[in-house]
Amino acid sequence: MAHELPPLPYAYNALEPTIDEKTMQLHHDMHHAAYVKNLNAALDKHPELHSKKVEELLKDLNAIPEDIRGAVRNNGGGHMNHTMFWNIMKPHGGGDPTGPIAEAIKGTFGDFKTFQEKFNAAGAAQFGSGWAWLVADSKGGIKVMSTPNQDNPVSQGLIPIFGNDVWEHAYYLKYNNRRPEYLAAWWNVVNWEEINKRFHSLVKK
Ligand code: MN
Repeated sequence: MAHELPPLPYAYNALEPTIDEKTMQLHHDMHHAAYVKNLNAALDKHPELHSKKVEELLKDLNAIPEDIRGAVRNNGGGHMNHTMFWNIMKPHGGGDPTGPIAEAIKGTFGDFKTFQEKFNAAGAAQFGSGWAWLVADSKGGIKVMSTPNQDNPVSQGLIPIFGNDVWEHAYYLKYNNRRPEYLAAWWNVVNWEEINKRFHSLVKK
């Protein structure tokens, strides 16, 4: 069973002006689509792996046959990361976090602004391409981190609550080389309801 590109849960222009229509179109239809296509092409060489969820593949990369391990890491990561990314954004999102995630952020970082600064700094400091994350460990503690390329925190035994894409393809058309400006604006489209759902199902289950 092949992996499939999930439809974008809103229109390409729905996140304007924070993220422009053209960026969304290229990002979803070209970049994410390519990760799915290349993941399936890699798994075709080991069809027994087609039945596994992408998260299962990434959780134990050492169990992936060596000839496709890099392709699964990069393209499986790209598929999982972007599937999360579309869903943790929404039109007219943003504002202060609500619910359990707000409490967890307050408990760990003191206040939302301090957390945002840490998260944005992690995204700005990630050299080249990668992601900024809020993750949980197996004990439920939360922290900010970044990963290079399309690496997903599950490969390090961590739980990805949400992340922001800091690849140039995510922001370059509108923000050019001003990544910190993109990082600051991005909070305007964050979907806290969805993040609370993820937090509940992944961490506080
Ligand atoms: Mn991307």
